[in-house]
Amino acid sequence: MNIGPYTIDDYMHLVKSFHGNVAPGLIIGGFMVDLAMKNIPEGVLFDAISETSSCLPDAIQLLTPCTVGNGWLRVVNFGRYALCLYDKYQGDGVRVFMDTKKLQDWPEIRDWFFKLKAKKDQDPAALRDHIIEAGTEILSLGRVHVDIAGLGKKGKGAIATCPTCNEAYPARDGSSCLACQGGGPYDTSPEEQAQGPRPGLKVVTGTKAEKD
Ligand SMILES: [Zn+2]
Repeated sequence: MNIGPYTIDDYMHLVKSFHGNVAPGLIIGGFMVDLAMKNIPEGVLFDAISETSSCLPDAIQLLTPCTVGNGWLRVVNFGRYALCLYDKYQGDGVRVFMDTKKLQDWPEIRDWFFKLKAKKDQDPAALRDHIIEAGTEILSLGRVHVDIAGLGKKGKGAIATCPTCNEAYPARDGSSCLACQGGGPYDTSPEEQAQGPRPGLKVVTGTKAEKD
C-alpha cells in the first residue's frame, strides 16, 4: 500500500520532518490526497482546497504541487476534515471527506476523531496501525464544481506604502495597511514594532525559527 509515490514508512518519515510529528490526521490526510488524485483525470492542472487548517493542508503540500505559498492551495476553514482537488480552469473536481458513518466500523479512530477518549487513555501506536489498516475505508468521495470566480482573485493588485508603518501593502485595503487599521495579532504599536529587540531579549534560534 502506498501514499502517492511513497511507501507508508517513507511518507511517515516525510511527515515527521515537515510537520514535526506523525500526527494521525496527516496519515489520514495522505490517504485522502491519494484517493483524490486517483480520481481526477490525468493531465489536469489542479488546485486544492482544504476545509480545515489543521493537519490536512500539510498532507496536500507534501503530496501535490499545491502549497499555500504558491497559491494553488487555499484553506477555506469550515472545520470539516475534507479536501477538494479541482481543475484550476474549469472548476470540476473531487471532494474527499471523513465519512462519519464508515467511522462507526473503526471505533479507535472514531473515538480519537470525536475526542471521545482522554489523551492519556489513547494509544498512539495502535491508533496509527488502525488508520493504516483502514486506509481509504473511512473516506468517501464526491464530485463537486468549484465556483472559481467566487473564490476571488489571487493577485494583490496595486501596491502602496502604508503611511503609518511604511511597509508595502495591497492598495485596495484602504488608506493604510490592514494591520495599522487595527485588528492584527500584535498588541504592540507600529512605533514599537519598528524598534529592534529590547536589550536582554534572547534571540530564538533552532529548527522552528530556521524553518520560518
Ligand atoms: Zn501599516
